[in-house]
Amino acid sequence: MVASSPTPVASDPPAFGSYVLDRIGNTPLLAFRRIIPKNPHVQIFAKAEWCNPGGSVKDRAALQIIVDAERRGDLRPGKTLIDSSSGNTGIAYAMIGAARSIPIELVMPASISEERKHIAAAFGAKITYSDPYEGSDGAIRLVRKLVAESPDGYYYADQYSNPSNWLAHYRTTGPEVWRQTMGQITHFVATLGTSGTIMGTGRYLRERNAAIKIIGVQPDDALHGIEGLKHMESSIVPAIYDERQLDAKLLVTTEEAFATARRIAREEGVFVGQSAGAAMAAALRLADTIECGVIVVIFPDSGDKYLTTSLWKIQDWSI
Ligand code: PMP
Repeated sequence: MVASSPTPVASDPPAFGSYVLDRIGNTPLLAFRRIIPKNPHVQIFAKAEWCNPGGSVKDRAALQIIVDAERRGDLRPGKTLIDSSSGNTGIAYAMIGAARSIPIELVMPASISEERKHIAAAFGAKITYSDPYEGSDGAIRLVRKLVAESPDGYYYADQYSNPSNWLAHYRTTGPEVWRQTMGQITHFVATLGTSGTIMGTGRYLRERNAAIKIIGVQPDDALHGIEGLKHMESSIVPAIYDERQLDAKLLVTTEEAFATARRIAREEGVFVGQSAGAAMAAALRLADTIECGVIVVIFPDSGDKYLTTSLWKIQDWSI
């Protein structure tokens, strides 16, 4: 498999500037000054995925899903792309749909943050809300029902089963991390939602160096508040998820994820979402258990989509 192809969008370069979709990928790798491991022989770096134009890591997957479906002819004029999303993939589809004139329909849990709803709507996507108490699994069940009711009108992208999801990371995130660490990465840490990020990046990195450890991060409990993540044991398990690809799985509480996201904002000046907090919390714990290494962690999105949630609204941040 060719691993180095650039962002898979064909567009003639303009004389000046770049098209919005050409800005997907090639995100910076951040270093830290204060939130660092106690052991000086361990370093942590974070991939700043909010630098993608749709504001999250999911731009990569959504673009690959759309481009591959168009190539196969599954997504063609007259079809609407439909999928369930806890927010970021929906925003990414909506952004790409607006830029490429593809109609987008999203099924999202009514419980997702207001910001996510408004951003997806701003790009012109049609949104149907699923039961807030059923989380992302409720959205999956509802989208399947809608597609069964009118199969001809839709291309069901199904990010949980679609290999283009992990392939996006195999082709872009993995090579970027390898390049940015000059091949020195020893541990890759990412949170689990659809698992596309960790499956694709992990596969690429392991092909470069089989000794690299791939560490998954998930909420400790079915009833968690870390938007975008799945508690696999109590969820519909994504078809693309293969737990054998992971060397370890670390569990993070909602409180630990929130507290770490707040620390990252105040001590590093980096404004991230709760899943980035979860990933960093796990990376710091991992750092305590190894003698030396270069840990790369994914920061999937920024804090601004959660301004109206308890992540940032709470006055007493001592918890
Ligand atoms: N964090 C956030 C905020 C997300 O929206 C997602 C995607 N649901 C993830 C992490 C996990 O990414 P992936 O789907 O690639 O596992």
